[in-house]
Amino acid sequence: MKELSKITETFTESVIREMTRICDAAGGYNLSQGFPDFESPQEIKNAAIAAINDGWNQYPVTYGESELRKAISKKAARYNGITCNPETDITVTCGATESMIATLKAIINPGDEIIVFEPYYENYGPDGILSGATPRYVTLYTPDWSYSSEELAQAFNEKTKAIIINTPNNPTGKVFTRKELEEIAALCIQWDTYAITDEIYEHILYDDMQHTSLATIPGMGNRTITINSVSKTYSVTGWRVGWAIAEKAITQRIRKVHDFLTVGAPTPFQHAAAIALSFPDEYYIGLQAHYRDARKFLFDVLQKVGFQCSLPKGAYYIIADTKSLIHTLDARDDFSFSHKLIELTGVATVPGSSFYSKSNKGKTQVRFCFCKKWETLYAVEKALDKLV
Ligand code: GLN
Repeated sequence: MKELSKITETFTESVIREMTRICDAAGGYNLSQGFPDFESPQEIKNAAIAAINDGWNQYPVTYGESELRKAISKKAARYNGITCNPETDITVTCGATESMIATLKAIINPGDEIIVFEPYYENYGPDGILSGATPRYVTLYTPDWSYSSEELAQAFNEKTKAIIINTPNNPTGKVFTRKELEEIAALCIQWDTYAITDEIYEHILYDDMQHTSLATIPGMGNRTITINSVSKTYSVTGWRVGWAIAEKAITQRIRKVHDFLTVGAPTPFQHAAAIALSFPDEYYIGLQAHYRDARKFLFDVLQKVGFQCSLPKGAYYIIADTKSLIHTLDARDDFSFSHKLIELTGVATVPGSSFYSKSNKGKTQVRFCFCKKWETLYAVEKALDKLV
């Protein structure tokens, strides 16, 4: 047989999603893949069922149903301070995942570089490879996940086409401050670079943190692609409805890629998503309150059994250092730690090296997510007691 594509030899399937399969096979507690195990809001479940019954079962407008694009535009103005025209500046995609790869495909030429903060959400690695971009990584340092301004400035050069920013950040929980975003904006303007922001956790913030959209920093509106989705905010990760907001010329390119990749995101879920986007403020306050309490609970449990970690400022993940438990589990690295932890306790995590470009990094880290119901979190507490 002839050789399969060379490019697909260079990355593996997602470790995050593999850990879910391993967890399911073991009947464990899935603190690996970031999706809620509690019910989605009844109102939007009803809206999705109604949309199916109302006949919204054929292809959508390829770049998004008009009703949803209008709702996205209103929400972007209200929450993010982004002004965008629903007719020309929005592409609805199969989750934020498709928005990211479609955006990269729309802007990258051979030889282009992209800047990615590390550790980073696993998908950005293969996304970069599939789009043909050469990545440059800028380290986020523990304990507060700050970066060095010098290292950031050094990462930019004539070949830099885009920087990817995920705020609030997966896996670190970092929330980029306005000052940091202004510094990034100045570099983007200096080097005439695009910015792709993944803001999927924008409503999951703690300790009075504020979400700032990079697109609202002066000079960034026409060079930023703002990606989002209903997945995390409305606890419907399986609906696969996300979007990219960008000025008209960029959007035209993203729409072309999207059209040939997937044609459209599921039609009935787009209609239900439009309803979710008009939820009142109380909904977001309730969501944050649950995650704030779950964050503290899991943090305390992890500290109690011997992990070292810090409280995330946003999103719903905790990166935990395993050093003091490596001997308890007789684990040689992050993968063996994660596997042995499932065997011993039933608790599934993501091996830390999945969030780094080099497999020798993150070796003593694992990622836990806490977007789970109390019943699960209490069971996890009990299960992790086996470590002490
Ligand atoms: N964002 C989620 C995580 O990091 C997973 C998303 C996905 O699997 N598509 O766990």
